[in-house]
Amino acid sequence: MTMRLREFAVDLETPLSTAKGDIERREGLLVAVDVAGETGVGEATPLPGWTESLEDCRDALAGLTEGDAEGAAAGDPKSAIEDGALADAPAARHAVSLAVADARARAAGRPLAASLATDPHTSLPVNATLGDDDPEATVEAAETAVESGYDCLKLKVGARDPTDDVARLRAVREAVGPDVALRADANAAWDRWAADRFLDSVEELGLDLDYLEQPLPADELDGHAVLRRLHDTPIALDESLSTVAPERALASNAADVLVCKPMALGGPDRVRDLAARARDAGVAVVVTTTIDAVVARLGALHVAASLPGDRAHGLATASLLDADLAADPAPVREGRMRVPESPGLGIDADALFR
Ligand SMILES: [Mg+2]
Repeated sequence: MTMRLREFAVDLETPLSTAKGDIERREGLLVAVDVAGETGVGEATPLPGWTESLEDCRDALAGLTEGDAEGAAAGDPKSAIEDGALADAPAARHAVSLAVADARARAAGRPLAASLATDPHTSLPVNATLGDDDPEATVEAAETAVESGYDCLKLKVGARDPTDDVARLRAVREAVGPDVALRADANAAWDRWAADRFLDSVEELGLDLDYLEQPLPADELDGHAVLRRLHDTPIALDESLSTVAPERALASNAADVLVCKPMALGGPDRVRDLAARARDAGVAVVVTTTIDAVVARLGALHVAASLPGDRAHGLATASLLDADLAADPAPVREGRMRVPESPGLGIDADALFR
């Protein structure tokens, strides 16, 4: 078994401001592994705040190609993901795990989604993300998204007073009508009081949110559990899953929905494990990217397609990038992404390393 690495950098179309700082470009490593006579490819695109740093990711992967002190064979990707060598480097683990899964699916002659589940979705609805802006601009962006076929919109909230965010949501609801699903993502910006006020107004006005994502700081599981008890609006956790063990989030009754980022959780296998435990607890899963390049986006698409349920996923992030590593075989059309039908991820692994 051999393993190859390739560094890459892709610029964003326009810098993206997030609660954890501005993102101007995405840098990472592609990993190719040869397993069962097939080459599989994976991607590590670290996002500090969610994963290890680029430097730590690079070191973790370089360590694998050199073999480790425990005597594991140099470049043995399967043992690397099984023995916990990459436990502190989720982006690195993601790349290796995805590459091994891609190679195995190729060897079996099946799309990755079909090698993970017996009856995967063939296409998935995805949400459009609307950044923070005044009500008029938010409505304009919402109408553009709905005209292009999206029936699920995620509004970024939390940058202004909750009353103003409610006004934005109300304007969007009035513009798009009752059949478009609306989500709000506060990125941990609020305290209990602000979140309470927001949810009271949203519910009084009948704005019918699909869910409110991460209203409170990541470690406040109890606060989220209280919001769930006090309000009808479903609560989703995102940032919390990179701060506390996902099992704790489930045990705390803090969420109706878990927002799962394969890059932050350590790979497609980790997402599937967590989704199974979530399902047992009656909690839904939405898969999102960490603004990744095409290989990791395809990985997220296949793993999302392998899960039951018909909620829209947060995979429509290709348009944020100014360039990509290869042509995208799963562009968003009419608010949906089709899962590639060719074996593995559906992308030419060797071409990425040429
Ligand atoms: Mg989020």
